[in-house]
Amino acid sequence: MIERIDHIGIAVRSIAEGRRFYEALGLTVERIEDVPQEGVRVAMIRCGESWIELLEPLSEDSHVGKFLEKRGPGIHHLCLASDDVRTDDEHLRDSGFERMRPAPTLGAGGCWVQFVHPKSAGGVLVELSEEGPHPPAPSPGPPEHALPGRGGD
Ligand code: ZN
Repeated sequence: MIERIDHIGIAVRSIAEGRRFYEALGLTVERIEDVPQEGVRVAMIRCGESWIELLEPLSEDSHVGKFLEKRGPGIHHLCLASDDVRTDDEHLRDSGFERMRPAPTLGAGGCWVQFVHPKSAGGVLVELSEEGPHPPAPSPGPPEHALPGRGGD
């Protein structure tokens, strides 16, 4: 079941350049992550209960690299959060909608993701995403307790 808009993916030539606008609005880049299987580096910017995902290509022949070459920077996809991406994906398959992959795969942030082809979704590339079994670890803060000493040394 779809729960909310998780994020909007925006193709940028450079995260360093693309983040400036959002930071000027007071938003914060909470993490930057390379997703080599997708050929992108992503910067996640929190925006209330949703996120803005800046996508910088790791190479020109990656999906986002080709998108930039063809269409320039701009909105790349819409991501909907699902509580069960496998079931939603099977439902779309059984209803005749074209998905980009045979089954959900592991994407950024350790989430299970599937993409729906724009020709099946009104011209919009739609990502379905479910938090995976290994959500990204929170950035380490100061330890609450000092580690116990090893004693006997
Ligand atoms: Zn995305």
